[in-house]
Amino acid sequence: MNLITKHPLYKTRLALPVPNICPFCNHDIVPSVQNESHYFQDNVALMYLSLFCPACKNAWVNKYDLSWGEPQLVSANKRFKRPEEITSNIVKVSPVGTETLTQALQAEQDGYDQLVGIGIRKAIEFLLKDFYSFKLPDDSSKIKRMYLGDLINTYITDKDLYTLAKATTWLANDETHYVRKHTDKDLQTLKRFTKGLLKNIEYQIALLDARDFLNH
Ligand SMILES: [Zn+2]
Repeated sequence: MNLITKHPLYKTRLALPVPNICPFCNHDIVPSVQNESHYFQDNVALMYLSLFCPACKNAWVNKYDLSWGEPQLVSANKRFKRPEEITSNIVKVSPVGTETLTQALQAEQDGYDQLVGIGIRKAIEFLLKDFYSFKLPDDSSKIKRMYLGDLINTYITDKDLYTLAKATTWLANDETHYVRKHTDKDLQTLKRFTKGLLKNIEYQIALLDARDFLNH
């Protein structure tokens, strides 16, 4: 989306691209502008927007280059863009799970490769516990206290989801241990399985909505 403001020097209409997904919490948002500032010297024309997320109350700065006509977003927050498999439905069901997963993937991009698997392990636990709490609200407090392995064995009746949950958990647990059991399966495999897990959860959410729809 574009934020319409005035050029700080020429006072002409300026459309600055701003994200509609918060880089911190991944919610769909309309960021509010807290502050505008600029730098003009010689041929350099830069503008800065402090943007604020109404959902998680975090703020960040976008930097725009106005030197060449159309404003260019040169360095936003360098945060990881939400991968498409982290859908807004999943964000709603598991805000902490999706935030943790985004941070884990961001860590890989930033070179902190030792933290990625641990982050994914935490994300999987939140995603599955939140999804089953959403699916079975009466069991929610029990589900949240269970070990992840017990939750998988007790609650996941869908065979595909069971396979993906089991495989991602095994690989992710391995990332947290001193001695690895699955040396042939690397982080990229874990990421691929996690993607499959998210796609299946999205499918399960759609299925619940469709059942709800037909029953009303
Ligand atoms: Zn936010």
